[in-house]
Amino acid sequence: MLETRRIQIFDTTLRDGEQTPGVCLAAAEKLEIAQALARLKVDVIEAGFPFASPGDFAAVREIAAQVKGPVIAALARANKEDIDLAAQALEGAKRRRIHTFIATSDIHLEHKLKMNRFQVLKRAEEAVRYARKFTDDVEFSAEDASRSDRDFLCQVYAAAIAAGATVINIPDTVGYSTPEEFGALIRYIREHVPNIDKAVISVHCHDDLGMAVANSLAAVAAGATQVECTVNGLGERAGNAALEELVMALHTRRDFYRVGTGVDTRQIYRTSKLVSTLTGIAVPPNKAVIGENAFAHESGIHQHGVLNHAGTYEIMSPETIGISRNSIVLGKHSGRHAFEQRLRQLGYELEEKAVTELFVRFKELADRKKIVFDRDIEALVANKASGQPEWYQLVYHHVVSGNQTLATASVRLAASGAVFEAAACGDGPVDATFKAIEKAVGFSIGLKDFQLKAVTAGEDALGEATVWVEREGRTFSGRGLSTDIIEASARAYVSAINKMLAACGCGASGQAAGGN
Ligand SMILES: [Zn+2]
Repeated sequence: MLETRRIQIFDTTLRDGEQTPGVCLAAAEKLEIAQALARLKVDVIEAGFPFASPGDFAAVREIAAQVKGPVIAALARANKEDIDLAAQALEGAKRRRIHTFIATSDIHLEHKLKMNRFQVLKRAEEAVRYARKFTDDVEFSAEDASRSDRDFLCQVYAAAIAAGATVINIPDTVGYSTPEEFGALIRYIREHVPNIDKAVISVHCHDDLGMAVANSLAAVAAGATQVECTVNGLGERAGNAALEELVMALHTRRDFYRVGTGVDTRQIYRTSKLVSTLTGIAVPPNKAVIGENAFAHESGIHQHGVLNHAGTYEIMSPETIGISRNSIVLGKHSGRHAFEQRLRQLGYELEEKAVTELFVRFKELADRKKIVFDRDIEALVANKASGQPEWYQLVYHHVVSGNQTLATASVRLAASGAVFEAAACGDGPVDATFKAIEKAVGFSIGLKDFQLKAVTAGEDALGEATVWVEREGRTFSGRGLSTDIIEASARAYVSAINKMLAACGCGASGQAAGGN
């Protein structure tokens, strides 16, 4: 056996990742991501920060009640109110973890907490002891650990472990550390915390200098056994260590690291797509492992080599992360059985009702498009109705545009039995359509951003539109999918309006957002 240690993958896409600027996930979307993470077989899902907002609380509670497999964790600052709420939100989980934290660096003590070292040590101890009343699984983080005084840091960890912490997390909160330095810090902690053998050593690295994954790997080499990360590297500022890079580095180089994870790597690509669709944060084409170009071979010499023997230029195969080389699958004559079977082969376990809805959309798509690729099916699944209440539905849209004519659009929306119609002119067909929709709903909407991209290649490709709208300082995103880009845009705009009306509860995340 090559693998001598098992590394726990702690995913914080739904907590740190959700703190990515501009990201606002509805409860149903968080649940969908949590279910994908369970299929990916991560060990721990940090579902949110219940104290941050009622929306965060509700999402953690829903995930705790419904998602089976991984440990469900909730973040709490080191005080009773936060811990009480985290414990309440986690009640439905079979395996639950309270993750409590306090800063330990002098700069945070002086300017943020206004506490001295003794007070911080006592507070950490009390918080861990209090959290243990609710669960046997308590993680303690020393925020800004990498910039803290090493000996004080060791004292705090020793106190937290003595109070019952089962995991101690060492975050590089501001992404300041380097691999050599961070590895040395882990070794120092292992050597200077007397009761360290009673806790799992965890790390949490940020990517401000592009070293989050490298720092995490250095920590693993130095003896850490839990790594915190996010899908697509989302997170505060420059983000966290990317799950896909970490897992594939450990997997591809198990000869070197001699560790294993429990992750089903074949779910990586799909999970990345889902997270990118739901958050609206695109993956750059040159991104390691999951980027569009990660397995593309441009040069003739490389292509020739790969065709003869993949190993000449490929250190991992696309199949390992769940990209199938044979991607032409279904067409207009494919029946429901074939469609259902393909969904299962792609790893989706969906309820009967969802399959029925998707099959209708698949048939509509197959009528417009000769060949339906796996990527199209994945886009359909990612864009399926979220289960959120939909106020308005797009019934009809018509647009006239050209280089010699003013773009004019008319739309018809339906909402609880009533019909709303309007027409408007604009700068181009998308603008005219958005203005007509705004007129039909009867209130002004602040369009913040708009993005359009093709799901697959070819002139009949599916277009995926994402729209961000703003109201009273809160941002809401909507998505739409169609082979007609104006229709995709209109659907995205209506979906953003529906979300705005359903008020997703992300607005308050600023009040107590933080963590490590
Ligand atoms: Zn963080």
